[in-house]
Amino acid sequence: MRCSLPISSERRVLCVFPAYTPSFGTFAHAFRLMYRVRAFMPPQGLLLIAAYLPASWPVRFIDENIAPAKAADFAWADIVMVSGMHIQAPQINDIAARARAKGKVTVLGGASVSGAPELYPQYDYLHIGEIGDATDRLIACLDDSVTAPAAQRRFETNERLPLSDFPLPAYDLIRLNRYLIGSLQFSSGCPYRCEFCDIPALYGRQPRLKTPEQITAELDAMLAQSFCPPVVYFVDDNFIGNRKAAREMLPHLIAWQRKHGYPLQFACEATLNLAKQTEILALMREAQFLTVFVGIETPDAEALKAMRKEHNASLPMLEAINTLNSYGLEVTSGIILGLDTDTADSESRLKAFIDLSQIPILTINLLQALPRTPLWDRLQRDGRLITDDAGLESNVRFLRPYDEVVATWRRCIAHAYDPERLFARFTHQVDATFANRMVGPVRGKLTIANLRNALVLAFNIAFRVGILADYRRPFWRAARHALRRGQIDAVLGIGFAAYHLIEFSREALRGDQNASFYSTLKRERKLESQPLRKSA
Ligand code: SF4
Repeated sequence: MRCSLPISSERRVLCVFPAYTPSFGTFAHAFRLMYRVRAFMPPQGLLLIAAYLPASWPVRFIDENIAPAKAADFAWADIVMVSGMHIQAPQINDIAARARAKGKVTVLGGASVSGAPELYPQYDYLHIGEIGDATDRLIACLDDSVTAPAAQRRFETNERLPLSDFPLPAYDLIRLNRYLIGSLQFSSGCPYRCEFCDIPALYGRQPRLKTPEQITAELDAMLAQSFCPPVVYFVDDNFIGNRKAAREMLPHLIAWQRKHGYPLQFACEATLNLAKQTEILALMREAQFLTVFVGIETPDAEALKAMRKEHNASLPMLEAINTLNSYGLEVTSGIILGLDTDTADSESRLKAFIDLSQIPILTINLLQALPRTPLWDRLQRDGRLITDDAGLESNVRFLRPYDEVVATWRRCIAHAYDPERLFARFTHQVDATFANRMVGPVRGKLTIANLRNALVLAFNIAFRVGILADYRRPFWRAARHALRRGQIDAVLGIGFAAYHLIEFSREALRGDQNASFYSTLKRERKLESQPLRKSA
């Protein structure tokens, strides 16, 4: 539903979503292989706010991962609204500076300001917490006046709007064909309490849910566009945070797929104990889930216990990964280095895990303490938080020497993204995972736009990876293996992902990319796209 307040003024609202810094999870390098793609996925939070605003307020939506907001956009607006995560903090502040230079009142909401409002003194209004009573008070205030207040004002949500009352995100304000994948939210919150994670504090431990009807209505809205990305990502903090709800929603997703001829495939984030939920896994397979991002963090059981992520060890880890693969789910994984439990052996254990698990895509990052986490509180108590802009890769004073931790990170990404090893892991996936996917009808996917995009992708992969790249030999070996099994899709997926991962890791090893999403090291970079989050 929309905001139902009585409104007396018309306000033109410019919603601006900040650019992301490239990372392993952005796939930004691979956009050049695709037709018109410029960003990873649509920003759910700001699209939701745009949809909630009063119907009489015109809204313009700019995602700066695609193109920057122009002077004319700022000139048009009465209000500039921004939302983002900690990793976008410099870009969030940059938008405020541009808006203020045009004399516009500025509003900031979203995860970063909700966790650390003190980072954003430049904004006129801060919206802290999820959409709810604070949103209505903020709208009433803006309806009253768009003159910047003398001092910053904060609106904090006490009563959240139930997810079942969320309006359909304003997909009509964006063009989905500019995005690599679509995005969708079914639930918010996670029942676990991992030490480094801010999700429980920000979104609660009791997952809140949309109805299955909302989910299918959102899919209808996406499909109504001239082109909808063929894969849609459930951005839920943990897709099985409420197992019963996931189990009850999935049949609706399957029914929607059947009705439309299986036009889409899905991905999500979930905890590794998903491997115990065979009923859910069977439904996910039938709904055509391809990938699950799992925050594995470390293969070390003691380290998992120390970070309160024991649920990752409730099954032997490799067995759990094999189980997910057996339902056609490729596992992508978050890994953290710089943990207090790391020893001189951690590097060799992680490399062995990468080889044994055969997970192709891993986002390997240094530990970072986020505000509103138990980790932040512990490190603050122990005097181990680096709060000044020290130009380091992390705000944590590691127990092991800083240079050694960063060097370990470099050696681990060099190992993971050595082309021979990477293509060997993808080759393993062809048999262990892709062969287990349900072969559904292709009726829903047979569109002119899909065929054109596949042809552009195939041509660019053949040219840039298959001819120009110095890793063309291992690529063709993996491609031949997939083609012999009739997996043409897999050849495109492997070429696409490997191109980004290898190019990005080479930049990182040259020192052109950071070891942490949150690094304060300043490097010349293009600001593009949105990363896979590191949560579940
Ligand atoms: S890291 Fe994942 S499992 Fe742990 S609290 Fe965060 S969302 Fe939940």
